Amino acid sequence: MKKVFGIQSFRLCQQGVCNANMDGRDVVCIMPTGGGKSLTYQLPAILTPGCTLVISPLLSLMRDQLLHLQEAGVEAVMLTGGTPKSLSDEIQSRLISLALSKSSGQAGREIKLCYVTPEKIAKSKVFVSLLRKLVEGGKLARIVIDEAHCVSQLGHDFRPDYKKLSVLRQFFPHVPILALSATCPPKVLQDILKILQMKPVVDGKASGREGTVHFSAPLYRKNLHYYVHPKPSSVKEVISTMSEYILQNHKNESGIVYCLTKKDAEFVAESLRNVSNDAIKTGVYHSEVPDVQKEQLHTLWRKGTVQVVCATIAFGLGIDKGNVRFVLHHTVPFADSCSQKSLDGYYQESGRAGRDGQDADCVLYYRPQDASRLSSITCSEAAEGQAKLRDMLRFAQDMQECRKILFAKYFSESSDLSVASWTTDEANAMDRCGHCDNCTRPPETVNYKDVTIEAWQILKILSAVEDQGGRLTVSGVSDLARGLGGGSFDTGGKRKKIRGKVQLDYAAVAGGKVMLSKEDAESLIVQMLITGYLKEAFASTAYTVNVYVVSGEKAFRLSRFSRDDI
Ligand code: ADP
Ligand code: ZN
Repeated sequence: MKKVFGIQSFRLCQQGVCNANMDGRDVVCIMPTGGGKSLTYQLPAILTPGCTLVISPLLSLMRDQLLHLQEAGVEAVMLTGGTPKSLSDEIQSRLISLALSKSSGQAGREIKLCYVTPEKIAKSKVFVSLLRKLVEGGKLARIVIDEAHCVSQLGHDFRPDYKKLSVLRQFFPHVPILALSATCPPKVLQDILKILQMKPVVDGKASGREGTVHFSAPLYRKNLHYYVHPKPSSVKEVISTMSEYILQNHKNESGIVYCLTKKDAEFVAESLRNVSNDAIKTGVYHSEVPDVQKEQLHTLWRKGTVQVVCATIAFGLGIDKGNVRFVLHHTVPFADSCSQKSLDGYYQESGRAGRDGQDADCVLYYRPQDASRLSSITCSEAAEGQAKLRDMLRFAQDMQECRKILFAKYFSESSDLSVASWTTDEANAMDRCGHCDNCTRPPETVNYKDVTIEAWQILKILSAVEDQGGRLTVSGVSDLARGLGGGSFDTGGKRKKIRGKVQLDYAAVAGGKVMLSKEDAESLIVQMLITGYLKEAFASTAYTVNVYVVSGEKAFRLSRFSRDDI
């Protein structure tokens, strides 16, 4: 470990996982992003004869790992649909000669790790028969399934090809399986065990040498400092705020800015560069960036030539860069699946900071209005999706509770993970962290205002609008309540937008206009949504319009907003 990877000591449950692995056990290991899952199979791989097969969902993840391993002088290869024929022929013939070789020693160029996409197992008969040869020759040391939660439809990132990995146990009943994941509620864990046909989990006391060993590492990372910063309403100001933040706190340090859409990512990258006079070197990453460019970006980012990657969630899974000093969220996170738009996603994305264990900042730029932008791309049937969105908003709106406790509560409620899994030796799960925004904000800077009246006014105004058959977005309600023309509204159901002013007699309905700033009014409305005083209604068609208010171009743009924009 020291010689090859330059790692001085084990972290979290790494040692246990390595041992169980080398003992030939089936293992499930749940460890937070950045915890160090790779070492748990890479170290056994170089210490045991034969080849370790690693199945991984994303090319960028594999590329990162491969670069890393090659730098460390480990023989590793990857085989994907995109591997050129000549190279894939070469790799396959190397694997065949490994299968046929008599020696169990560590001959020079023996492939120690072979990374493949799940499609290789699901779709390539040639590759599966190659694996059979390896197994027959006793040269397939173990099968590692990274991001194992992708096998389960109960999880948030189901991939059909992953489900087909069930054939592995069928074909190769004696090859040990290591399943790795960062988020895995118990029901997903059970599903993983079932689908991959792993042996039942044994608990610590079981004396037998059979059965899957289950490891779960604490999720709380004390080197990450969480902040929610208010997001200015003007697009320009958001950029200058971010630029200032980066230059003041992380000059020349590596970071990621997560954006909601591809367009946003491009815009933010360009604007940050411009507004900082090239002091912030940015790059763009999203699903439509050509592979060659993605690879280039990875290299430049590793080298530090590119400082900040502006990206959609397409950038992530398995980035192996330790010294990411900050992860900013331009907008409340959203993933391309109904149920992941939540703290899970935020935890994962922000968790890409500080993997080297050094201090890092996670800043979420939050503006209540973003909530309506998000709900416009929620898939409508997912009541669960809405609940998850509320969880995220609750986190963003909270200005009192410690971020660590908010996470702990969320994970212990939503995933049945016991709160204990948040405890580390030094920190009790329910103790405040002492270093997030809510723990460090001087109390005298917080101004409390009683908004009972305003909330009541908003309810009155909304019900008056409802009586006229209208529905409004968050900002629509806010505008209307504040007496700003309020724009027009869709008279529900018919999907025909009727442009016309809502006529409201404020004095009669609510005793007058709501005297709050736009931001505060929106914040209050979101708070009312979160707490159940208001309910969001959704259009019946997935992917499309959930926006009922037409307020100029914005609504028009929103109505064209689909998941493909991400
Ligand atoms: P994960 O896959 O769990 O997200 P990685 O395996 O990519 O995490 O590891 C994250 C980072 O932590 C890598 O840069 C890795 O080199 C480093 N790392 C792993 N284990 C240790 C350790 N025991 N001590 C110090 N650094 C480690
Ligand atoms: Zn705190």
